[in-house]
Amino acid sequence: MDSRTRLLLRQLPSVDELLQEPSIREMVQALPRWAVVEAIREVLERWRRMLATGQSESASADLPSRDALIAEVKQIALRLNRPALRRLINATGVVIHTNLGRAPLAEVGIERIVEVARGYSNLEYDLEQGERGSRQGHVEWLLCRLTGAEAALAVNNNAAAVLLAINTLAEGKEVVVSRGELVEIGDSFRIPDIMRRAGGILREVGTTNRTYLRDYEEAIGAASAMLLKVHTSNFRIQGFASQVPVAELASLGEKTGLPVVEDVGSGALVDLSQIGLSKEPMPSESIRAGADLVTFSGDKLLGGPQAGLIVGKRLLVEKLRRNPLARAVRIDKFTLAALEATLRLYLDEGRAFAHVPVLRALAMSLQEIERRAGRLRDRIVALASGHLEVSVIDGTSEVGGGALPLESISTRLVAVRSAHLSAPVLEGRLRRTDPPAMVRIKDDQIVLDPRTVLEDELETLANLVASVAVP
Ligand SMILES: *Cc1c(COP(=O)(O)O)cnc(C)c1O
Repeated sequence: MDSRTRLLLRQLPSVDELLQEPSIREMVQALPRWAVVEAIREVLERWRRMLATGQSESASADLPSRDALIAEVKQIALRLNRPALRRLINATGVVIHTNLGRAPLAEVGIERIVEVARGYSNLEYDLEQGERGSRQGHVEWLLCRLTGAEAALAVNNNAAAVLLAINTLAEGKEVVVSRGELVEIGDSFRIPDIMRRAGGILREVGTTNRTYLRDYEEAIGAASAMLLKVHTSNFRIQGFASQVPVAELASLGEKTGLPVVEDVGSGALVDLSQIGLSKEPMPSESIRAGADLVTFSGDKLLGGPQAGLIVGKRLLVEKLRRNPLARAVRIDKFTLAALEATLRLYLDEGRAFAHVPVLRALAMSLQEIERRAGRLRDRIVALASGHLEVSVIDGTSEVGGGALPLESISTRLVAVRSAHLSAPVLEGRLRRTDPPAMVRIKDDQIVLDPRTVLEDELETLANLVASVAVP
C-alpha cells in the first residue's frame, strides 16, 4: 500500500464521527439506530476496500465528500429498515402466481386475521360448553357443507395433507398409483418422494399415457393399503391417453376394502365452466363419485390462505387427526380465521365470485379489462408523456398455480416502450421500485395485464412506470 492510499484511508471518518453529523443524527430520529450504524459500517468498509485496492481512482481520485457518504448511508439504512417480505403489484397476468404469494385474500379474510391476531380467541375453546374445543370445528362444518363430505380436516398445505394421508393409511404398505400420475408440482413436491418420506411403498401401475382398471386390480395384494389418484395439475398427456375415473377406483376400493384417496390439487369449489374456463376437478364431485378422502389446496383456485384441506369419510378423517404428524402440520389461527371467512363466502356462490380476488380476476370481463387498460394507459401517458410509447394490445392471462396449464384467457395488455431504455432495463427498474411491480416482456416492450392489478393499485402502477421511464 502506498503512502497516498494510507493517507486517504486515515482521512475516512470513523463510525462515531459520522454519528455526530447533524444529518445523521436526524436520520437516527426517523430510522432505527442499528440500521444507521450498520449502514455507516457498510459504507466505510466499502470505501476502505475501494481505496486499498485502488478502485476508487477511476471514479474519483480522492475521498468521497461528506454529503456523498451520508447519502449512501441513508440509502442503505432505508433498505435495511424495509421489511424483507413486502407487498408488490402483480401485473404479470398470472392469477395464482406461487412466487408472488398465490391468492390475494378477500377483504373479510384480512379483517378476520387482524381481529384474531389482535387479541385472544376461542381457537380451541368451546364457549357453549365451557370446555376445551377443537380448532378444526371452526371450518369443518363449512368444508362438509361445501363438498358434501362427512368430515374434514385442515392442515398446513396440500403437500402436508397428502403426506398425512399416506403416513396414516399406508405406512410400511403399498400405495397403488398410476404411472401417469406421478407428478412433480414445483421443485420440492414429487409424489414418489412424498410417498417415501411418508413411509408408503410406491406401487406404480399402467404406463405413462394409459392406465386401466385391470392394472390396479392386478397390482392389489396383501401388501396394498390404499389406492391413490393424483390430478395432473400442471401438465396434460394428450392423444392416446387415459386414466381411470375416480368412480371406478371407488368401486374397486369398495370391493377390495382399500381406501381411495384423491389429491385433486387446486380443487375448485365452484364450477369454472360458468366463467368460460375448463373444469378443474371439484372436491364435491370426487366425494360424490365415492372417493374416501379428497385433498386440495387452500390458496390456489379456492382463493384463500395457504392450507391443505382433507375431506371425506369420518372414520378415516378421525384416523388422520389422531396421527402425531397431524400436530406437526397443524393449521395456525390466522390461516384458520381467513379460511373460515373465505369458505363462508362460498355458501353463496354469487358472493364468492364477487369477493374472492382469484375468482374475480378469472371472471373479469374483457370489457372491464379494457376499461382498466384504458385508464392505465391514459395515466401513464399523462405522467410520462414524451418518454414512453404506450398502447393497448391483445394478449393472454394465465390461471397459474399449476391449474389449467393449457388454458390461456384473453386479455388486453398495456404495452410500454421506451426510446432510450430496453424492456429488460424497464422491467428490472420496476422490480426495484417501492412497491415493486412485476411485469412481463414481449417484443422488447414491457406489458402490464390489468387482470391481476387490483383496482386501488392502478394509479400507483402508472406512477411507478412513469418514474422508471426517465432515461
Ligand atoms: C399444488 C399441488 C399440491 C401441493 O399443494 P400445496 O398446497 O402447494 O402444498 C399437491 N398436489 C397437487 C396435485 C397439486 O396441484
